[in-house]
Amino acid sequence: MIGSIDRRTVLGGLALGTLALYAPQAQSQIKARIVIVGGGFGGATAARTLKSLLNSADITLVEANETYTSCPFSNLVIGSERSISEQSFSYQTLKQDGLSVVHQRAVAVDPVGQTVTMQDGTTLGYDRLILSPGVDLRWGALEGYTEATAERLPHAWKAGTQTTLLRQQLEALEDGENVIMTVPPAPFRCPPGPYERASLIAHYLKTRKPRSKLLVLDAKDRFSKMPLFLEAWAEHYPEHLEWRSASNDGTVSRVDAERMQVSTDFEDIEAAVINVIPPQKAATIAELAGVTDATGWCPIDPVSFESTLQPNIHVIGDATIAAPMPKSAFSANLQGKLCAMAVAQLLGGRAPEPTVLANTCYSYTTPNEAISIVGVYSNGSGKFESLPGAGGLSPLQAPAEIRQAEARQASDWFTAVTREAFG
Ligand code: FAD
Repeated sequence: MIGSIDRRTVLGGLALGTLALYAPQAQSQIKARIVIVGGGFGGATAARTLKSLLNSADITLVEANETYTSCPFSNLVIGSERSISEQSFSYQTLKQDGLSVVHQRAVAVDPVGQTVTMQDGTTLGYDRLILSPGVDLRWGALEGYTEATAERLPHAWKAGTQTTLLRQQLEALEDGENVIMTVPPAPFRCPPGPYERASLIAHYLKTRKPRSKLLVLDAKDRFSKMPLFLEAWAEHYPEHLEWRSASNDGTVSRVDAERMQVSTDFEDIEAAVINVIPPQKAATIAELAGVTDATGWCPIDPVSFESTLQPNIHVIGDATIAAPMPKSAFSANLQGKLCAMAVAQLLGGRAPEPTVLANTCYSYTTPNEAISIVGVYSNGSGKFESLPGAGGLSPLQAPAEIRQAEARQASDWFTAVTREAFG
């Protein structure tokens, strides 16, 4: 069991170590204009990496919000195990490091004239544009679910007020009243995220509202780390969590905020709290830039992260089509570094080389126990591919000490990734 964790750690380190091989040398004289839209895990990391590689370049990060609120670890906030203030990160360090950070919403991209227009009407010209805008929710894709109903049936799939709202609704729940969570079909941000959330809500109910129960209605039959989650749920929450698969009438076709009800093919079910995780797509600015395809996501070259639809625009993070790499902060952070290096190399007249990428997703199953999945990927064949025999899952039937050690690793990862992105 320990061997399995060691193997994953080694492979993660190898993938990050490979980055150094591709760092461009002596490119600090390049004077290009680079604009990055989206200051989350992908964009903030890309901006900081570019600043360290191309000190003379004109690099601007365009981010709508003055404070970033992290989705990773927000499920602990919902489960009343962490405060929302611990999720907040400012852009102060980026500004102190000399990066130009513009707090505006980008509202248009002209891929021919190579400009980005801000909400206040100002424009920025670019030689290379990096988009890391994350996801938007597909309002209306699930009947009855709109921006207005999300105030009653929170998604909490973008962290911030929605996270707090869901937590407050759980706090206000009477013991004995029930909770529903709906999970959309893939792809969506953070494949294991719904099941980590289910675990932490079930933990909250078990410890604070023991007569209440969570019903998870899923549009899928299988999910990330499924055997590990099912094992944890059987051990910790047999009375407090029921997961219903698509094959077992789990797909929700309609929600009704007035009646506090969700409908499947065969049943209408009421609950006092309903957490709707709706279908998603690349955030709107990607669509406006012309880098989304019919799926609503962004096809890219897996080595340079350049859009296959628009030249000189790179896309990273959740907005991309990068499967089997998941839409995770870990992936976005690594893609931010690799994309920054690719942009620096392209501006210096060199072609970026294929490399090895890794992702680790930790999930809490209780407030102090976690499980993880590691993937290792190649990008040299024109697409991302899982490296056979690499990566892995936490072991099944592991003693509590192993789960607790993984929870500490998760916490260390969060500290490291937020430090890399926000300083
Ligand atoms: P984001 O981090 O969402 O950043 C996008 C940024 O772009 C935002 O700051 C937004 O304001 C800005 N933006 C968008 N449009 C514009 C515009 N037009 N103009 C200006 N700014 C704009 N991942 C993990 O690796 N580990 C975890 O444990 C984990 N847990 C999660 C738990 C939950 C509940 C959820 C929902 C997600 C979790 N994730 C986790 C996934 C992680 O949050 C995302 O994969 C990650 O945030 C993606 O980074 P990104 O840079 O693509 O997008």
